[in-house]
Amino acid sequence: MVRKRQLEILLEKVEGFAEPSARREQYATPATVAASVLHWAYMQGDLEGLVCDLGSGTGVLAIGAKLLGADRVVGLDVDPRAVKTAEENARRVGVSVDWVVGDVNHLPFKPVFNVVVMNPPFGAQRRGADRPFLRGALGIADVIYSIHNYGSKDFVQRFISPSVITEWRTVEFPIRHTFEFHRRERHVIKAEMYRIERR
Ligand code: SAH
Repeated sequence: MVRKRQLEILLEKVEGFAEPSARREQYATPATVAASVLHWAYMQGDLEGLVCDLGSGTGVLAIGAKLLGADRVVGLDVDPRAVKTAEENARRVGVSVDWVVGDVNHLPFKPVFNVVVMNPPFGAQRRGADRPFLRGALGIADVIYSIHNYGSKDFVQRFISPSVITEWRTVEFPIRHTFEFHRRERHVIKAEMYRIERR
């Protein structure tokens, strides 16, 4: 078993977006946050079997899931450049993940996944940007771990009903200066992670 701190160190090797797109809200999940959600899922016994990362970006969650012993991991993202970086990242870390270029609105998967782990767009640029991700995830897996804006719980619970948020945690999310419209160099926001069960 890879411990949480070891996992963080390995995930620091994962490169972020070379040219992040603001419209698609391309923020790579920091290694500390990725390790938190993955370790949490692992401790609940949920990171087994077939795992999917929706909006996998440059791959930190998919790669981490594989490091924690998932049998098989699939990462999907709409941006082919991000998928290419994800491939390189997996090679560098030394794990095997299946990468797919695709859109969450038209998922090319059957409902065979044990779990989806995802950090969807927060909807800062476009409200409700996380909805197709929740809908897509509920269409293919029994359990979902997902990272959202602080304070989204009631909205997400209503949106996914009759499925349920069984547990949640807050997590500190360091944001680097990525886009021109960000003023401060580095600040920390609070985010929430949910464990969702399909009902
Ligand atoms: N999960 C990654 C990236 C988070 S950023 C990480 O944790 O680091 C959100 C990602 O969602 C981006 O990579 C963006 O390209 C992707 N995305 C946005 N809209 C999408 C869509 N309709 N279908 C698939 N991926 C999408």
